Amino acid sequence: VVSPKIDGVAIALRYDATGRLHLAATRGNGFVGEEVTAQAHRIAAIPPRISEGELEVRGEVFMRRSVFARYAGKFANPRNLAAGALKQKDPRKTAEYELSFFAYDLLGREVELETEKIEILRRLGFVPIESTRTGKEGMIAEFRRWAARREALDYETDGVVFKVNRISEQRRLGETAHHPRYAIAYKFQGESAVTTLEDVVWSVARSGVVTPVGIIAPVTLSGATVTRASLHNAGNVEKLGLTRKAKVEVMRRGGVIPHIEFVVEPGDEPVTLPDRCPSCGGPLRREEDFLYCANPDRCRDVQIGRLAHFIDRIGCEGFGPRLLEQLYDTGLVREFADFFRLRAEDLLPLERMGETLARKLVANVQAHRTIPLATFLEALGIPELGKHVAAILARYGSLDRIRGLTEEELTAIHSIGAVIARSVVEG
Ligand SMILES: [Zn+2]
Repeated sequence: VVSPKIDGVAIALRYDATGRLHLAATRGNGFVGEEVTAQAHRIAAIPPRISEGELEVRGEVFMRRSVFARYAGKFANPRNLAAGALKQKDPRKTAEYELSFFAYDLLGREVELETEKIEILRRLGFVPIESTRTGKEGMIAEFRRWAARREALDYETDGVVFKVNRISEQRRLGETAHHPRYAIAYKFQGESAVTTLEDVVWSVARSGVVTPVGIIAPVTLSGATVTRASLHNAGNVEKLGLTRKAKVEVMRRGGVIPHIEFVVEPGDEPVTLPDRCPSCGGPLRREEDFLYCANPDRCRDVQIGRLAHFIDRIGCEGFGPRLLEQLYDTGLVREFADFFRLRAEDLLPLERMGETLARKLVANVQAHRTIPLATFLEALGIPELGKHVAAILARYGSLDRIRGLTEEELTAIHSIGAVIARSVVEG
């Protein structure tokens, strides 16, 4: 039996005689780790009650890539985020991360085949891990098939597990002190390389988050030369214990930009966190692993980021980063409405600007003067207000009516949580 090796958190779920989930625990190195029963109850793919009792179900809690996309750039990988989400003291917080669960083992039932376990798990309401069957001769082909599918899957997998299907055969093969002899995992080749960390630069995103990027000596990863590697957040920089001139392992997983995985050999000067905003020089605020500019409304990079988001979301072309910087620095565009007040003659003094281009840009903006309310709401860039929520709010018909809504009224709308409601009221 062949199945992908999920890059998640292994947990065991115990169901009592009445079929109620009464204990969930993480499994570190085969031993029972932390109890996470209340948190497991908040994961949609874990049934709180099943039709049979006295069972233990084992599997992997993970975060789908499509869910992780919301946090992309902020966290190193879905695995770390899933582990953090599962350890939230307040189980309601766990629910917000929309974790998933794949079941792959069943204890407490006499079965003859692995494939039987999968059938029982499915019948009990679990999502069993995807699996295929092959003989010895098909193993290499299966490995290649999974490696090729890897990028298209909605979950991260770092290899393939081959298991002997017949349970009696599994018993015959037995286990060594460290691992069973009837199962073997093959890891996919990671695209990684060792290079030198030259420096760490910090920039401020539209959200006000101050994000570190590692400047590295050029290195080739899957055919492309890489000179920058993501460091995700301030907490990650601390955890890695970075020093300039350190030898670091750089890795690319999936199509995303490469990140620094760990320090191979320390360098000389320690990398410290900034104590002022790299854009406006103002004070910073720390929240868990993240540094924020404390004055986002007066911070140049935050403001330019918001303008860029707005112009992109309303679908207006031609406004690249360099132009937006100039528009902001000259004071021509400081708020969204300023775009619509631009005249061709205002633009002419700017760098690399000609009569034709200036007219074209103004025409582009004017063509987007009337946009659907949902698009406009999304373009405002209010935290948590994505496409989905924007579409719901747009049903209120006008901006004034939406502005009039209170936090309580917003929370009452299906699929708008307290966090979004607060965000909309404040925005
Ligand atoms: Zn700032």
